[in-house]
Amino acid sequence: MTSALRIGVLALQGDVREHAAILTSLGAEAVAVRRPEQLAELDGLVIPGGESSVIDKLSRIFGLRDPLRALIAEGLPVYGTCAGLILLADEIEGAIDGQLTFGGLDVTVARNAFGGQVESFETELQVEGIEDPVAATFIRAPLITRVGPKARAIAALADGGVVAVEQGNLLGTSFHPEMNGETRLHARLLEVAEARRAALAA
Ligand code: GLN
Repeated sequence: MTSALRIGVLALQGDVREHAAILTSLGAEAVAVRRPEQLAELDGLVIPGGESSVIDKLSRIFGLRDPLRALIAEGLPVYGTCAGLILLADEIEGAIDGQLTFGGLDVTVARNAFGGQVESFETELQVEGIEDPVAATFIRAPLITRVGPKARAIAALADGGVVAVEQGNLLGTSFHPEMNGETRLHARLLEVAEARRAALAA
C-alpha cells in the first residue's frame, strides 16, 4: 500500500480549515503550510480564498514566494480557489499597488469582478470532466477575462464568463467549492498529485 498523499494548504490567511477537512475526507494528509521548508515534502498544494494582496505580502515576508514559484514551474500540482486563483494567474486586473502573483496560469483575472461582499452568490455549474453540476459559491470573486493558449477553460457562467481553468498540473476556480462540501475539484487535484508522484517515482 502506498502512503497517503501529502497535500499542503497555504495557511497565511483565508479559509484553510475547510480545505484541510475536505482533503482529509478524501484520504490525503493535509498540512497547514507557513514555512518554506514545509514545501519540499508536498505532493500538492491548495491556495485558499481570502485576500490575495494579503496572502501575497505574507508569502514574501515568510520567504515562501520564491520557493513556491520554483515548485510551480517544476510541476507541483496546485489548486487555487478565488484569491488562490488570483495568486496563480500570470496577470491581474484591479491589483492594489505593488501586488504580485505567484503566476503559472496563462490567464488574466479581474479581481472583485462581481462587486462587493453583498454581491456574493451561489450557483450550480457544469465543470468539464465532472459529471453532475458543481455547487459553487462566489464571494468577492475574480472573473477570468483572458484564457491564454496554455490554459483551458473548464467552466463558465450562463453569460459565458469563465470561472474555472486548468493548465497541466494547475487548477483554478473563481468560486469556493469547499463552502458547500463539494469535494470533486479537490479529488481532481489528488488525481493529478497521484499521477505526478508515480511519475517521479518511476
Ligand atoms: N476579492 C478577494 C481578493 O482579491 C478574493 C475573495 C475570496 O477569495 N473569496 O483577493
